[in-house]
Amino acid sequence: MPRLIADRPVLHMTSELGRVMAAARAREQAGERIIHLERGEPDFDTPPHIVEALAQAARDGFTHYPDARGELSLREALAEKLARENHVRTHVDDIVITAGGTHALYLAIQCLLSAGDELLVLSPHWMALPKLVGFAAGARYRTLPVYLELLSGAWSPAEFGDRLRAALKPETRGVYLNSPNNPSGAVVSREHLEALAAVAIERDLWVLADEAYEHILFDGTKHVSLASLPGMAERTVSIYTMSKSYAMTGWRVGYAVAPPAMRPALAPLLAFYTTHGVFPASQIAAREAVKGSQACVEDMRAAYEQRRALLLRGLADSKTVHAPTPKGAFYAFANVKATRGERDLWAMVDEWLGFGVAALPGTAFGPEYGDWVRLSLATRADDVAEGAKRIAKHAGDPRAGRPQGTRPSATARA
Ligand code: PMP
Repeated sequence: MPRLIADRPVLHMTSELGRVMAAARAREQAGERIIHLERGEPDFDTPPHIVEALAQAARDGFTHYPDARGELSLREALAEKLARENHVRTHVDDIVITAGGTHALYLAIQCLLSAGDELLVLSPHWMALPKLVGFAAGARYRTLPVYLELLSGAWSPAEFGDRLRAALKPETRGVYLNSPNNPSGAVVSREHLEALAAVAIERDLWVLADEAYEHILFDGTKHVSLASLPGMAERTVSIYTMSKSYAMTGWRVGYAVAPPAMRPALAPLLAFYTTHGVFPASQIAAREAVKGSQACVEDMRAAYEQRRALLLRGLADSKTVHAPTPKGAFYAFANVKATRGERDLWAMVDEWLGFGVAALPGTAFGPEYGDWVRLSLATRADDVAEGAKRIAKHAGDPRAGRPQGTRPSATARA
């Protein structure tokens, strides 16, 4: 029998999310009720006017191979949106439509990192990053914890700049930035972005600016696009997606905005890997999303903000689990050191499943986060409140004897 699976390390990487979801599913099949705080997908339906635009576009014949860079009318709508909202001026030929933000990141990493190059990944980072770098043969990444420090206000812009400078190595080619940040909810301020920009210019670095959660902001916090800062558009690949803002995860539409220097690389690579890119009717629907009323975006944002309040209120009763207040995205990153004790984080996550709460271990977001879990707000408000209540009630202090959660009451499972 031939060897069927290539010896490629990226194929052996496991998914923490997959592991938690499988464990949750097994319990659900056994009749337990699990509150899903592990998933990162909007629970809202795609707004009806976008769905209608898809149906109409399919009837209108947008069913053939698309332009490799993406439908021109969508790229024109995005160029306007980028100028208006992000203060990024770009040519339509420097926007490529991708199968979601993940694909945009994949392509950018393929274009920018050669064997031996390193990407400095600011952390905690979205869990796909190691795999995306893993696909670029011989490239490496290293993490630099920053977002919790920025969220707590511990670092001035100057200190942030110094930390970045100190972390760079000769082989560092670029930095992966994600603001608003999944999982911590940090939103990097203009002043801190200016500090990052100064370092990038000084050391001639690329920046991958992942703005997947650009519209999900709390307390009136403003999102600033890195490419809008002087000298940055030429060294930034900005990554966007329809998935979060418009609850369009299944539609697979995202886009990358890159400097003209990347024209010979990005679109041809996209055309090659996907045989011309994204379903055109999906792209026409995305155009409607961008050009139509933005009330749906605000409604969902407001719902996440309300759920954030419910989660934090519920956790306020906990003596062992504390989450810094997220300023954007739809997660809270909670510190569980006091309830984990000496246990392995997975043992604690299993215990939480026992009292009916699925959470994602912090180690998915970088090796430094063994004392953290991500709790998602992308689930019904009632469930967010109930999940927080269960955590506050059952996640005990193991030093004070048997953790309460090891033998949950029947009602906790109901
Ligand atoms: N970036 C971040 C930070 C994300 O959390 C996600 C999705 N979870 C993405 C990019 C990509 O999403 P999609 O591929 O659906 O656009």
